[in-house]
Parts: sequence; structure tokens; C-alpha cells
Amino acid sequence: MHKIAVIPGDGIGPEVVNEALATLEQLVENDDSLSVEWEVFDWGSEYYLKHGRMMPEDSLDQLKAFDAILFGAIGDARVPDDVTIWELIMPIRKEFQQYINYRPAKQLDGIQSPLHSKKEIDFVIIRENAEGEYSNMGGHLYKNTHQEVAVQNTVMTREGCEKVGRYAFDFARENNYTSVTSATKSNAIVHTMELWDRSMTNVSHDYSEIAFDSVYIDALAASMVQQPEKFGVVVASNLFGDILSDLGSAVVGGLGVSPSANINPEGSYPSMFEPVHGSAPDIVGKGIANPIAQIWSLALLLDHLGYTKHSNIILSAIESTVRDQVVTPDLGGSYSTKEVGQAIRDRA
Ligand code: ATP
Ligand code: MG
Repeated sequence: MHKIAVIPGDGIGPEVVNEALATLEQLVENDDSLSVEWEVFDWGSEYYLKHGRMMPEDSLDQLKAFDAILFGAIGDARVPDDVTIWELIMPIRKEFQQYINYRPAKQLDGIQSPLHSKKEIDFVIIRENAEGEYSNMGGHLYKNTHQEVAVQNTVMTREGCEKVGRYAFDFARENNYTSVTSATKSNAIVHTMELWDRSMTNVSHDYSEIAFDSVYIDALAASMVQQPEKFGVVVASNLFGDILSDLGSAVVGGLGVSPSANINPEGSYPSMFEPVHGSAPDIVGKGIANPIAQIWSLALLLDHLGYTKHSNIILSAIESTVRDQVVTPDLGGSYSTKEVGQAIRDRA
């Protein structure tokens, strides 16, 4: 029996997580081989307003007992941004060594890409999620004077680079992608990016059947718009991966249909699955949030736990729903969150 911790969080989080859980419930009822149970935690901004913290003191210990985490969204105007991020999402990512962020950019039949590309877009972005440009190291000199200087350090380790490189190539091999493209900028960032390049090249030698290319991030961003169909696996540092994955999400139809995974590849801790979008305060309570990104995140979670068949059932149901144009306003339709969720369940 696999155990899933569910954190719906804030805003539209609970609205879309409800649809994901109803889908999971139906799958479990229909098939004994899907052996999962779940527990819902009411952590997030409401919890913070009541208790002065985003989650209880022993929350990470509680989560350790689970095999995976399904997360909704976090963010509330009444709580400072640094609290929502640094007291909930970051501690989970760090404590559970989720050093891979994985985001598929796969165009579903029926969803119009803003690029009007005629060819199928299907690539994934593997982003380094634990080190790199997003370090807390650095500081200010002469603060609030005209001479003020700020320094922010990027930290890359050979081990960190090689681990993400291996993950990317293994992923390509296991999922029949024929190429890995590494995002770099070693012409201008000569120390850390040089280590990144060398690590990727070293790793690539063990995967001779997979085409490897290292491309400057500026040119890479341009070709992701001009020829998105040519990419397979794109591997990138924390900052570059952050930017590219929003771009990837945009070229296949936007936030409403973009899932992601924060993965601990060793499996020593639970991995966490969440939509790319946030709490979307502007549409909370209107019943029009697109549940696809969240339900697709559930599919990634099930696949991660080895339930590939069930993951594929969900993906096919999503595709068929979209093909039938049962979609929310963000995709040009007039269906509600619940109606889209139900349509997916009817096809699962
Ligand atoms: P955060 O800081 O939590 O990331 P944000 O405002 O930067 O929040 P989102 O909450 O992702 O970003 O919202 C960005 C825009 O996309 C909003 O206009 C929101 O309504 C829209 N949006 C996000 N998710 C969905 C969804 N599932 N369905 C429909 N629209 C969505
Ligand atoms: Mg955002």
C-alpha cells in the first residue's frame, strides 16, 4: 500500500486538488491493483493566520512517512511571499533532497499553441533544483548609499551537475527521447557554467545513442519559440531551468495545463508533484480554474510510484476531454472546474 500526503494549500489549490482526488478515488474503486491511500493536510496560509506558521513544527517528520506528496498551490495576499515560499515549499524541497525539477512540455491534441506550430511539441525540461544560481550566499556593501554593491554567488558542484546530467540522460533513454540539449552560458559565465558544460559532456559519453548538444541559453530560448518540435530532453541549471520551463509551458498552452514534479531520484524521501501555476487569487471561488495541470500532476505521481498503467489512463482521459473541447475559460471554453474534472473521470 502506497501512502500519499495531500496538501491542497491556498486559493484555487483546493478547487483543483478536489478534482484530482475524485479522479484518484474512481481509479482506486475500479481497480484493486492501484493500492494507494491518502491523507489531506490543511497546511498553508489559512493555517498560518491561525497558528503563526505555515505548517506544524513536526510536519517534515510527518511527511517522511509518505511515499509521495500531491501539492496544490500556495500564496495569499494576507501572508508575505517569503513566508509562503520559505516556510513551506522550500523546506520540503530541501529536506527531501528533491534536486530534480521535472516539467513536461507536451502539446495535447485540441490545445492551440500560441505558436501555431504544425508539428507535435513534446519535450521535457529537467531543471537542477537544489544549487546553482539560487543560493543564499552573497551580500551588500555600503547599503543605501550611492556606492552600494550587491553580490550574489552561484554555487555549482561537480556532483550536483553530474547527478542532474545523469538523470536527464537516463530519462531520455527510458522514455525514448533521442536528444539531450544542455542550456549554458559558459561564454560569459566562465567558472560555474564551464563546470556545468564539462560535467554534461562527461556524462554524455556514457550515452552514445543519445544526441547531445550544448546551446547558449539566449539562442536556446529563441529556438524554443521558432522550432519547439525539435527538442527532446532539455537539461538546465536552477535559474535557466526556471525561465525555460515557463517558456515551455507557454508554448504548449499555458499554466492551466502544466504539471511538474520535484523528485528525489534516490527514493530515500518522498517526491512532490504540483501544477506549475500558483494560487491564482484573481479567479478563486469562481469555479473556473482549469484542473488539468493538477490532475496531470497526479498522473506523474502515480507513474513515479510505478502505476504507469493508471497514469496513462489519466493522460488519455485528459487528451480525450481536451479533444472534445470540454475546457475551462483559460483554454477558450465555458466549462467549470467540476465539469472538466467530471469529463476526465467519465473518460478514465
Ligand atoms: P504565485 O505567486 O502563487 O505563482 P501568480 O499570480 O504568480 O501566483 P498564478 O497563480 O499561477 O501566478 O496565476 C497567473 C495567472 O494565470 C492568473 O491570471 C491566473 O488566474 C491564471 N491561472 C493560473 N492557474 C490557472 C488555472 N489552473 N486555471 C486557469 N487560470 C489559471
Ligand atoms: Mg507565479
